[in-house]
Amino acid sequence: MNIHEYQAREILERFGLPVPKAGVASTPAEARAVAEELGGKVVVKAQVHAGGRGKAGGVKLVSGPDEAEQAAAGMLGTNLVTHQTGPQGVPVHKVMVAEATDIADELYLSIIVDGDLGVPVVIASTEGGMDIEEVADKTPELLFRVAADPLMGLSPYHARDIASMLNVPVAARRATAALISNLYRVFVESDCSLVEINPLVITKDDEVIALDAKINIEDDALFRHRDLAALHDPTQEDELELRAGKADLAYVKLDGGRVGCMVNGAGLAMATMDITKWAGANPANFLDIGGSADEGRIEEAFKIIVSDSDVEIILVNLFAGIARSDIVAQGIVNAAKETGTKLPMVVAMRGTNAEEGRTILNESGLDITSAQDLAGAAEVLRDKLSSHKGGAQ
Ligand code: ADP
Ligand code: MG
Repeated sequence: MNIHEYQAREILERFGLPVPKAGVASTPAEARAVAEELGGKVVVKAQVHAGGRGKAGGVKLVSGPDEAEQAAAGMLGTNLVTHQTGPQGVPVHKVMVAEATDIADELYLSIIVDGDLGVPVVIASTEGGMDIEEVADKTPELLFRVAADPLMGLSPYHARDIASMLNVPVAARRATAALISNLYRVFVESDCSLVEINPLVITKDDEVIALDAKINIEDDALFRHRDLAALHDPTQEDELELRAGKADLAYVKLDGGRVGCMVNGAGLAMATMDITKWAGANPANFLDIGGSADEGRIEEAFKIIVSDSDVEIILVNLFAGIARSDIVAQGIVNAAKETGTKLPMVVAMRGTNAEEGRTILNESGLDITSAQDLAGAAEVLRDKLSSHKGGAQ
């Protein structure tokens, strides 16, 4: 689970990390009030679940309350588009107003779980402030990785080592090492899958400050962090993914495709996406109905797929076991009639009650082509795609 910067900042503060003084605002007037309280120059920062705000106009350095109010008015209620969001961006409902820091140097610091080593790893770089992916790509020698022992934790000498690898001025070394140790405590005690401070700043007075904070909490650990679970902000998530989550369906939106895929099972989803590609198109999404045997959920699943405006054709690929083909077919027909969709469908059904399922579909009067198996579905899909608007991709 992702949380906002202002929420992450509060967590860091609770663990004793140095963060800039700041307040959060939902209206321009509130932003002004925070700026007045802080005094002097401030930074107005859009609170969205995406990085890259700086380059996208989501971080504004202003001289005082008047300009803070203006900057907030320019951000609140808009959608911020950054290189980490889709073209539609994410809505800005809050801004954080923080005191402006006199930056001498911007560093990078994060902790993640290394999947290969199976331990938390601290990643640090002198090249903070910018895209760390670009640093990793072009100058990987400027990234340091230090693995922690999950039982012993991150030892103080590791923290001091990282501080010196970061070339922190001597006057700030002790504070930086303490910050790194505390960040490790945040990571472990809050069950994070990521904590990232970019930039970690050294000020002109040799102070160290965590200027930006990103925290992801491991979903599977949320049951033991009620306080953190409450920080969830659904407005930052894809509407259809949220809707699917509520119905306990696994829906994943994919960029740049035109085929909506309805399947049962994750492995089948992969195979279905492969044949979609093979047929000359890209999947726009996939929706896994799992072992569902409930007509209502199938209806909801189908409605979610047709709500995705990228979808031009629907591929249903079912290997019915617990989920019965006839129930799935009836759910599809009900939903198609209710939504009035004219989208063509290619359906491959095997397993429990497949024959009954095919009959329901064939008699429905909808634009449905049945296929016997995966290969047959791919052939039909290929034909349909070439005759459908836009042609093959
Ligand atoms: P993002 O990572 O989304 O671009 P950041 O919070 O990292 O947003 O801000 C981008 C840049 O803006 C930082 O690298 C830093 O140079 C500047 N900045 C952010 N917060 C402050 C602040 N409180 N004082 C001064 N400059 C800041
Ligand atoms: Mg940043």
